[in-house]
Amino acid sequence: MDLKEWFANRQKRQEYAQVKQPLTTEEYCALWTQCFQCRELLYTRDLRVSLYVCPKCQYHFRIGAEERIEQLADPDTFVEIDANLISSDPLGFVDSEPYPVRQKEASKKSGLKEAIITGTMKINDLPVAIGFMDFGHFGGSMGSVVGEKVTRLIEHAQSKSLPVIIISSSGGARMQEGILSLMQLAKTSSALKSFHDAGLLYISILSEPTFGGVTASFAMLGDIIIAEPGARVGFAGRRVIEQTIRQKLPADFQTAEYLLKHGQVDMVIERAKMRDILAKLIVFHGAHDKRENHSSIQHEKSKNKSESTLSSR
Ligand SMILES: [Zn+2]
Repeated sequence: MDLKEWFANRQKRQEYAQVKQPLTTEEYCALWTQCFQCRELLYTRDLRVSLYVCPKCQYHFRIGAEERIEQLADPDTFVEIDANLISSDPLGFVDSEPYPVRQKEASKKSGLKEAIITGTMKINDLPVAIGFMDFGHFGGSMGSVVGEKVTRLIEHAQSKSLPVIIISSSGGARMQEGILSLMQLAKTSSALKSFHDAGLLYISILSEPTFGGVTASFAMLGDIIIAEPGARVGFAGRRVIEQTIRQKLPADFQTAEYLLKHGQVDMVIERAKMRDILAKLIVFHGAHDKRENHSSIQHEKSKNKSESTLSSR
């Protein structure tokens, strides 16, 4: 064996050794996800294709804002607005750690700046203004920035006559911002009132879990309220209520199906059908026509304006 051959063989030996390296526990765990409901082990790559819905029992996994954008938006149509808004620390709040430290940790974990991403995009070629809450960031809690982003989204949609869709997933108001986070309930609700008075369409989608201040404001103010199967939605948690009223609650209490049965939501729609149903609702309510009318009114206004400026000269 000459020296050249020896080096060639060594390279092969190294490649072989690399292939044979066993997966680390972390890598192995990332390949598989266990269903919370039926305990089936699911291949993570397949789960992504099935929109993070268990193929065996239809359990809808909790997903983040980015996965939602990928699932609902027409390719490359999502444009984020107010991407750089971040919370300050108005109360100088410290529990076991200062609030700014907690914020940094939350951002590191979720890769997001805040618990909501807002923007505009198209669904089946229909333009919408849309907000995606992410439970993975600070438990999806609503602080002043989440409230402000929701309000600005609604105002933006109103100025452009766009329908609004908000997908909620939240543990409630953000304690660390105290009264300022509670104020967001009134702010978002009042923006929605003016949006409603303008005759525009707001669809609220409730996903697992939606609780507290978000349920008590914009999540339950939709013209149409849709929930994902199995999503738990409520104000206070089940255990708190049981302790307060000293009674056992039904097993399906606060689930999407229970709320549908009791008239609190309009529809329970599985994830695979969400896109088409949203598009149908927008067309059915003529929300896309309003936009066309809006742009023709705007065009007419600007035409009249330019004519009047011409005549005044
Ligand atoms: Zn399952």
